[in-house]
Amino acid sequence: MTELCGIALHPAGHTLSPVLHKTAYLTLGLKANYHVFDLRPEEFPNGVKQLRQGKLRQLSVSLPHKEAALNWADEITPAARAIGAANTLTRIDGRIVAENTDWIGAQRSLESHQLGSRALVLGAGGAARGIVYALLDLGLEIGVHNRSPERAQRLIEDLGGHTAQPESRYDLLVNATSVGMSPDHTQTPIAREHLRPGALVFDAVYRPLETRLLREAREAGCHVQDGLDMLIHQAIEQIRIWSGRTADATELRAAALAALN
Ligand code: NAP
Repeated sequence: MTELCGIALHPAGHTLSPVLHKTAYLTLGLKANYHVFDLRPEEFPNGVKQLRQGKLRQLSVSLPHKEAALNWADEITPAARAIGAANTLTRIDGRIVAENTDWIGAQRSLESHQLGSRALVLGAGGAARGIVYALLDLGLEIGVHNRSPERAQRLIEDLGGHTAQPESRYDLLVNATSVGMSPDHTQTPIAREHLRPGALVFDAVYRPLETRLLREAREAGCHVQDGLDMLIHQAIEQIRIWSGRTADATELRAAALAALN
């Protein structure tokens, strides 16, 4: 039987998820297909219905449905509950399980680096919540800075950490805002003078792969990590949840780079 998986998002735009999932199916020899479902918020429950009826095995969930996804699950993992959002709905033994694999993607993309003890996270949206959860799990002290301070405050109350300013000291700087993302690739979320030589700078934005932030960080003597590995590892974890199989990150990265170019 061929399994059908897919991603629910709106607007559909460009998503790398089909390339990642289809490459993984091919390399793992899984009989599965992956569709893009452009669903407006009022159409999202219909997508979940397909999952419940057995027409779909797994639904990746992207903006703007990540929070709503929790309302349609029979079971919510502790991480998804703490983060307040799910990026994955999977039918397991007839029940819909909501999971968040973004935080796992963030952790795995950072595991080859020295992280130090203090992180400064820019942003307080869905990506920031997953990344803060991942970094707290690794024992880091977290400062959060966001354009809208009340959203940063909410994140801190829900997950932990404290508010911080761009000039704060850090060993790890994370951009979890959408600033610098194509087509606004000339933007950067932090002034060059706040980049600290020797620190690690992780940009969750992966389009372009080298953002202005990462270029300036490299020039300032920082270590850098792009956002593509986080995306790849969150997809690998999604596939593992329903198939039990682990795809090869190097093969997925090559396929993603070909698609990005
Ligand atoms: P989101 O929930 O909409 O949050 C957007 C964040 O960006 C908020 O903190 C927002 O601040 C901030 N922001 C937006 N425009 C800004 C501006 N002009 N100046 C300052 N701050 C600004 O989106 P998200 O899901 O967290 O995604 C954020 C980024 O992470 C996107 O670029 C997305 O592609 C990327 N992402 C990457 C991965 C990965 O696997 N690599 C996974 C998820 C997301 P306010 O609260 O003030 O609006």
